[in-house]
Formats: sequence, C-alpha cells, structure tokens
Amino acid sequence: MKSNIITNAILGVVVGDAVGVPYEFKSADEMKENPCRDMIGYGTYNQPPGTWSDDSSLMLCLADSLRGDYDLADMASKFIAWKAAEIWTPHGRVFDIGITTSKAIEDLKNILNRKDYEALTLLKYSGDEYDNGNGSLMRIIPLLFYIKDFKIDKQFEIIKDVAALTHRHIRGAMCCLIYLRLAQHLIEGLDKAMAYDKMRKEILEFWESMSFAEAEQKHFIKIIQNDICETAYEDLKSGGYVMESIEASLWCLMKTDSYKEAILAAINKGHDTDTTAAITGGLAGLCYGLENIPEHWVKQIVKLEEITALCDDLYNKYFDLNV
Ligand SMILES: [Mg+2]
Repeated sequence: MKSNIITNAILGVVVGDAVGVPYEFKSADEMKENPCRDMIGYGTYNQPPGTWSDDSSLMLCLADSLRGDYDLADMASKFIAWKAAEIWTPHGRVFDIGITTSKAIEDLKNILNRKDYEALTLLKYSGDEYDNGNGSLMRIIPLLFYIKDFKIDKQFEIIKDVAALTHRHIRGAMCCLIYLRLAQHLIEGLDKAMAYDKMRKEILEFWESMSFAEAEQKHFIKIIQNDICETAYEDLKSGGYVMESIEASLWCLMKTDSYKEAILAAINKGHDTDTTAAITGGLAGLCYGLENIPEHWVKQIVKLEEITALCDDLYNKYFDLNV
C-alpha cells in the first residue's frame, strides 16, 4: 500500500477508530486498571479485531462522495445509505450511531425526498447549543482535500455546510476548521509544533475578522488562546462533547511521539474511545505517515482493499498533479 497524504489521513482515522472500538464507554479508572496496549477484538460491541465504527463509516461516505464533484445532496444520500447498512459498514450492519447523527439523517431523508436541495444549505442556521457532539469532527478530514487551496473564510463556509448535515451549531464547525487548518499545515510539511502554532495564530485573526462572538470564543480557551500542552492529561475529558474530543486529540498528538502512542493515550482516557482515537488518528497519520502506523494494525482493518481503492481515487483526483 502506498503511503501518501490521503492514506495517511484516512487510515489514520480508521485504524484509530478500530483500536478504540472494543473499549468504548469504559471509564478512565477502568482503563487505568486495564490499559489498551494493542489492537484487540470483541469488548464493548463484540466485534472482531480491525472492525471500525460509525466514525470511519461516515468519514468514508464523505470521502466516497468527494470522488465526484462537491455535492451536499450526494453526501447526504451516502449518509442515508450507510444508516440503511447499504454502504461503508465493516460487516453489513450498523452497530453504533450517535443520537444527533441518527436524527439528522432522518431529516436528510425528508429533505432529499422533497428534492429541496436548498434546505441542505440552510441547516447551519438551525444549530442548537446542546447538539455539540463530536459527530461532525470525527468524519471531516477528507474535506481537507477539497478545500485546501481556498482562503480560510471560504473554507469555513464550506465546513459549516458539510458539518451541518449532521451537526449544525457553529461550535462544532469551528472545531472542524481548527482541526483541518492544523491538518493542512501538517500536509504542507510543518512539524507539529509549528503547525499548531500557525493554526492558533490564524484562527485568532480569523475570529477578529469575522467578529466571532466572545461567548463562543471562551469555549476554545484551552486549545487556541492557550497551548493545549499546558493542560494535564488528568484534566482532559473524552466524552462525546466536541470540545472534549478536540482538546484530547490535540493533546494526544502534541504530547506523544508516534502514531501508536498518540492512539493509546487517546483510548486510555476511556469513554468515547473510538471517536477520540479516530480524531487523533487523522492528525497523527498525517504527522507520522502510514509507515509509522503499526503494520499489524493496518493489516487487520476490515475491508482494507476497498478503503485503499478509495484512497487511490482521491489521490489521483486531488494530489497527483501537484505533489
Ligand atoms: Mg463509533
């Protein structure tokens, strides 16, 4: 398998998710007693090793859609097809789905049935502060390949629309922007400290230019106004709230020195282990490359050939000419 920007990001997410799946919902104390040290099978959902969950499924749906032109209706139709277990499941059924995502996909069905495609671009205006789960952040990384050459304000407009297919509040969308800007700087070849630094500066400038509400800015204090490295591991949380996920993921990337260490640090916080590891894994994959992901983890990934074929298509579409 070729190591390139696409496989690094996509397998980074899928492998992290798969390592985390057996541990979902375990508490931090339980993880401390019995830490994750390697990819195992079974556990929480009784799935064989290498089984990835909704995080990877929805990420792969987005990546699959981006094989063609940018099209919100096509993305929505792929999410719907996944929920019906027609595409991008590891073993032909959906064993894990978030509440917000599940409800949102039912809304998408109604919108597509009415052929009211404009409604897809209006979802971002109906965000509820309590719908700030990590379900948009966990699936967003392939969007980077499409938006990488756009200016930050245009990137944010697109991110808001894609995030809002399932998660409509601006806080989750801002997390996606922060995550993708950091990923972009890793792709550009900056080391992770420089990439993080550059991202924080440009996000602060962007907030100024867009008059991002002070009341929202304060939620980002640990990762933007301050350096996440100043937060202690014990003070991180790793539940389903998007701010917890991005804080934990940035910490696990910045404070460890390999893909494996980053993923194990993410999972050993417990709770939403697969999603924290998936989000961490996308960045760690870009930072260290596929060659740094343990080979026996990659080899066990279910439907690896299909995922690799998807990565090849995306590479040919978005990178072949200019990398
Ligand atoms: Mg999951």
